[in-house]
Amino acid sequence: MSEAPDAKPSYPWRMEDLVSLCARRGLIFPSSEIYGGINGFWDYGPLGVELKNNLKALWWQRVVRERDDVEGLDSSIICHPRTWEASGHVEHFSDPMVDCRACKKRFRADQLDDAGKCSAREGSSQHDFTPARNFNLMLKTFVGASEDAAAVAWLRAETCQAIFNDFKRVKDASRQKIPFGIAQIGKAFRNEINPRNFTFRSREFEQAELEFFIHPSEREKWFAHWMDERVRFHRDLGLQPDRLRVKHHDTLAHYAKAGADIEFLFPFGWQEIEGIHDRGDWDLSRHSEFSGKDLAITDEETKEHYLPMVIETSVGVDRTCLAVLCNGYEEQKLDDGETRTVLHLHPAVAPIKVAVLPLSKKLAEPAQKLERSLRRRWNTFYDEAGNIGRRYRRQDEVGTPFCVTYDFESETDGQVTVRERDAMTQVRLPIDGVRRWLEERLEVAA
Ligand code: ATP
Repeated sequence: MSEAPDAKPSYPWRMEDLVSLCARRGLIFPSSEIYGGINGFWDYGPLGVELKNNLKALWWQRVVRERDDVEGLDSSIICHPRTWEASGHVEHFSDPMVDCRACKKRFRADQLDDAGKCSAREGSSQHDFTPARNFNLMLKTFVGASEDAAAVAWLRAETCQAIFNDFKRVKDASRQKIPFGIAQIGKAFRNEINPRNFTFRSREFEQAELEFFIHPSEREKWFAHWMDERVRFHRDLGLQPDRLRVKHHDTLAHYAKAGADIEFLFPFGWQEIEGIHDRGDWDLSRHSEFSGKDLAITDEETKEHYLPMVIETSVGVDRTCLAVLCNGYEEQKLDDGETRTVLHLHPAVAPIKVAVLPLSKKLAEPAQKLERSLRRRWNTFYDEAGNIGRRYRRQDEVGTPFCVTYDFESETDGQVTVRERDAMTQVRLPIDGVRRWLEERLEVAA
């Protein structure tokens, strides 16, 4: 874990280059692009959706499937509006906002260092800010045929509140005892004042959250456990250790006992990708109060009746995708003077695991047969157009770990060449051994 200073990192490439690669290759691009985009909303294209799904599957595997003490959930996005009164979001979920009277732009009052110059004031180029006022980040909608106050509902600002609503139901249905957790992955919405840094701060994004319910005497133990687990997850994804750090919070909410962020060093500085919090019994006590339902549990052995405490881990799926992309992107100078763009993605998240490339279109039939057999196991890609060097480069820049080339000799010796993305080494393998060879490398990696 890094003790690196707060200085901006020296990534040897510009964020615009990564953003343009993402658009060009169908990873991530602005939503509603044909209408000029809509600020803070992004679409994941054919390769982006694979990357994101792989990341979510890894999280689900680690946090839910591999454990006996965590259950999954997929709740509705719109909850009963009282949920957000109980959670404090209606009253308090706001950021301080200022307007510039001259250029009419809006900024977060706590991020004015990045406000830039005022485009409407040539003389001084200083903004003319209004006093700060609070701006609620919840996105409002109406449910049903009328649009009066009684029909107001909210798009969830975080996925976890539904977990608290469903706590008793899930506990009873799954016959879990304390300690146990409930996890879910899903969309969250925040009307951010100033969306920026590509997908980093969006208005619609995905979270993967775990609420882990514990006895009040075990708060420290479980906070430490989940901190270790989550740091290990990011390291296992291949995020460089000197670009990862844990930042403990100096100030905590009044109900919280501990809180920390896992931060990644992006090209635009150290930023949070995940929060780990000891939320105490705040949420269950508030939902008990507002719903009138007792959410306390009774320990069958000791007969103790108590509200469990909660350790929360909350990671942004989009921010982690962005960290993975920044971490992996390289414009590599080759010995022949050329530059190749390569995404050094962990094979487990790579959108395409293997590409099959016949050396000539005449070899299409046997090459496609091979690709079809691999496709049953992984997301594969078949490409017969253009020279082989260029086809390798196209796979490098979307992070495909392996390319299999079917050449004229394959017809006689029954072998193909497998090329690895990072070192560009090549090995010759029997066709019927390719799947096994790839399995060994791709499975270990996951
Ligand atoms: P920030 O201080 O950056 O606004 P936060 O502390 O409000 O983040 P949390 O409420 O702890 O964030 O949400 C948990 C996770 O959800 C964050 O670590 C982040 O990865 C993700 N997240 C939060 N807001 C956004 C956003 N606007 N766009 C993308 N991801 C987000």
